[in-house]
Amino acid sequence: MNEIPETLAASVAIARDIAQNVTARHAESDDRDARWPAETMRALQDAKLTGLTAPRDVGGHDAGMLGLVVISEILSRESASAGLCFAMHCVGTAVIAAKATPLQRDRYLAPIARGEHITTLALSEPGSGAFFFYPAASLTRTPHGFTLDGTKSFVTNGSHADSFVVSTAPLAGEGEEGQFNCVLVDRASEGIEWMDAWQGFGMRSNDSRSLRLHGVQLPGDNLLGAVGDQLWYIFEVVAPYFLMAMAGTYLGVAQAAFDEAREHVGTRRYAHSGELLGAAPVVAHRLGEMWAQLASVRQLTYAAAERGDTNAPDALTYILACKAAAGEAAVNIANEAMTLCGGSAYRDNSRVARLLRDARASHVMAPTTDVLKTWVGRTMLNLPLL
Ligand SMILES: Cc1cc2nc3c(=O)[nH]c(=O)nc-3n(C[C@H](O)[C@H](O)[C@H](O)COP(=O)(O)OP(=O)(O)OC[C@H]3O[C@@H](n4cnc5c(N)ncnc54)[C@H](O)[C@@H]3O)c2cc1C
Repeated sequence: MNEIPETLAASVAIARDIAQNVTARHAESDDRDARWPAETMRALQDAKLTGLTAPRDVGGHDAGMLGLVVISEILSRESASAGLCFAMHCVGTAVIAAKATPLQRDRYLAPIARGEHITTLALSEPGSGAFFFYPAASLTRTPHGFTLDGTKSFVTNGSHADSFVVSTAPLAGEGEEGQFNCVLVDRASEGIEWMDAWQGFGMRSNDSRSLRLHGVQLPGDNLLGAVGDQLWYIFEVVAPYFLMAMAGTYLGVAQAAFDEAREHVGTRRYAHSGELLGAAPVVAHRLGEMWAQLASVRQLTYAAAERGDTNAPDALTYILACKAAAGEAAVNIANEAMTLCGGSAYRDNSRVARLLRDARASHVMAPTTDVLKTWVGRTMLNLPLL
């Protein structure tokens, strides 16, 4: 399956319009200035596309993993940072929606569907790094709810998000080792301290900042799910939605890099010979390899999303594999585009240079490529992932 289903046609048309008329216009300067993509996010909110993964009964699209892949790719072709900001909001929305209480639907999901609220995931910590499922942030009970303390790193959407899905260690005496909790934290909460502004090698305009939480007071209603079922969140919602969102994002980077390469080798003619660059067999060969990698990763990613949306028994293996494959495709195809496009691509802040810098984040964003491939192998051997 490689075609976009009819059910997504309206959302795709809106996303393409925003990507081409808003995102593309700001991509280069946002990257240069490490500026959050405010115009794209505003346009997505105004078009209610920020409700992509919110349930229908609050006004959302409930577009599932395939919808998330397709729209993330469209935005990421123009700006991977903007695609990532949108994607992390959608993953956060799916996590809230998975077991939302009526209050959480009213306070978070309904405003998200109306385009009035941006959320995001704050899982990573300096201590556990790539192993984000072992948080150390502490949650303690109080007469009115909880107190939250800890440090979170790389919070995409950073201070621009209205709420954060924050993971914590188990409540004292109420969980087993390896379990954790997820809570919702509002931006306006007292005790939130933002660290230095984000200055990334790539993905520069997504405000992925560190966040300190000093005794943040939370009402009991802000716990997601019940104590003890949070591992369920990781493997049923957080990981699948996150991995599909990242696969879509890096597919967009790979497609954009391929397009740049094809355009250059298909139009560059040498003055001395009149020959087209793409007519050189080795150049056409390299372009052909890039296309084949892109096409096969797209097939794998769409197949993974379809399986995830229908709860197919082998969905997890496909989902783990496709984020690793999309990341590798983005890095390889952007790197090849840098070679094929020559000096014009190598200049400071060219589009290809930005794509290559953005692509490199794929191998750093957990679960990372090596870890994912190991997990795919373990599913083949019927071994537990962790
Ligand atoms: C642009 C960007 C945006 C991000 N956005 C978010 C966000 O919104 N929310 C969030 O929670 N987090 C986010 N992250 C964090 C990210 O997902 C990673 O968790 C984090 O970058 C990795 O932590 P670390 O730098 O401490 O890596 P380390 O833990 O130091 O790992 C370094 C490398 O070693 C690898 N490694 C470690 N152990 C093994 C092993 N046993 N075998 C093989 N390889 C191994 C890792 O996979 C990694 O590639 C973001 C990161 C980036 C770069």
